Amino acid sequence: MKDVIVIGGGVIGCAVAFELATLRARVTVLERAVPGAEASSAAAGILGAQIEAHGDPALFDLMLASRERHQQLDARLRDAVGFGSGFRRCGVLKVTRREVDFEKEYSWQRPRARVEVVDPRRVEAALASDITHGVHFPDDAQVDPRLLLRALQQACAAAGVTFRTGAIVSSVTPDGAVETNDGVVSADAVVLAAGSWSSMIAGLPESLRRVRPVRGQIVQVETRPPIVRNIVFGDAGYVLARPDGRTLLGSTMEEVGHLKEVTAGGVHKVLTHSLALLPSLADAPITATWAGFRPATAEDRPMIGKLEGKLFVATGHHRNGVLLAPETARAIADLVVLGCTDRDLTAFSPSTEPRP
Ligand SMILES: Cc1cc2nc3c(=O)[nH]c(=O)nc-3n(C[C@H](O)[C@H](O)[C@H](O)COP(=O)(O)OP(=O)(O)OC[C@H]3O[C@@H](n4cnc5c(N)ncnc54)[C@H](O)[C@@H]3O)c2cc1C
Repeated sequence: MKDVIVIGGGVIGCAVAFELATLRARVTVLERAVPGAEASSAAAGILGAQIEAHGDPALFDLMLASRERHQQLDARLRDAVGFGSGFRRCGVLKVTRREVDFEKEYSWQRPRARVEVVDPRRVEAALASDITHGVHFPDDAQVDPRLLLRALQQACAAAGVTFRTGAIVSSVTPDGAVETNDGVVSADAVVLAAGSWSSMIAGLPESLRRVRPVRGQIVQVETRPPIVRNIVFGDAGYVLARPDGRTLLGSTMEEVGHLKEVTAGGVHKVLTHSLALLPSLADAPITATWAGFRPATAEDRPMIGKLEGKLFVATGHHRNGVLLAPETARAIADLVVLGCTDRDLTAFSPSTEPRP
């Protein structure tokens, strides 16, 4: 049985731990604070494989596969712990008041996925009357990330995964030694999944691509009944309604380091954009605000794969870490336990160096 250390207990670390435990590895998650409390519970939970694809074939393929795996993961979690991730195939509606040709912009997706150019106000009646163009992705979906994280952690614990909280990792070595605030631990394999803090750990290869934080702010309001059925994307943000009436308005994209603040400017931007899409949101009470850090890379692609020696990495998922967690986890668990995976990870190489 393989001993594996996972550094970071966000959605990526927990999903990796769950898949590793399923393959009968003995897993310890080292988390410096509260598992799931960072980017992963700040996320809206949009499984936007099609809205987020932007013409990158390798990423599109990974996103589609992971979106479908979410449905299976939801069922597996229900089996394991009695509740799932809140997976709902609610659809995404992208809208604008600009003159655009959505047919031209998105028809490339048709061989792989459903895309329909629509009259947006026929799909979502609450949209502002000047919104004229829409494209519908009926298979894009949502989860409730906080529910997903709770379910994943409980399923991990049930499968024998150990969570060590308050374990701050300072360095790693290729032979699988991990230095923490509480001494050195070692394993047959070490998976780096420390989100936007991943590049701060010492001992990683020089060639490893760097991760930086991109702050996002969300405003939560209450709309009962839910104001929209689909997740509505405008030109600079989105509105996502959960069935219970919690409605998330997002989000900013800010390069401010790890400054975890909700700002007046950020809230103003989010509210202005959302109210221009759905004017009746003006009456909705604000129930929460928060901010988190997306782990981004310069290439805007995650890093998923093997580093040197016993080190593996799964991070840099930027805007789509929740979406990409199940397929990332499956690929990493296969690599660690079986030594190979059927997922082509060439495009997600952790290294800046050209592959041999
Ligand atoms: C506002 C916002 C909205 C978003 N919306 C979506 C969305 O709708 N859909 C989507 O797919 N994605 C979304 N994302 C992106 C998504 O949240 C991230 O890509 C994803 O959560 C990254 O997960 P992670 O596990 O890599 O990082 P994190 O969740 O940040 O977890 C990393 C963990 O590592 C721990 N850690 C760090 N350093 C150390 C150390 N040295 N020692 C021990 N532990 C350490 C941290 O405490 C943390 O718990 C959003 C992000 C934000 C901020």
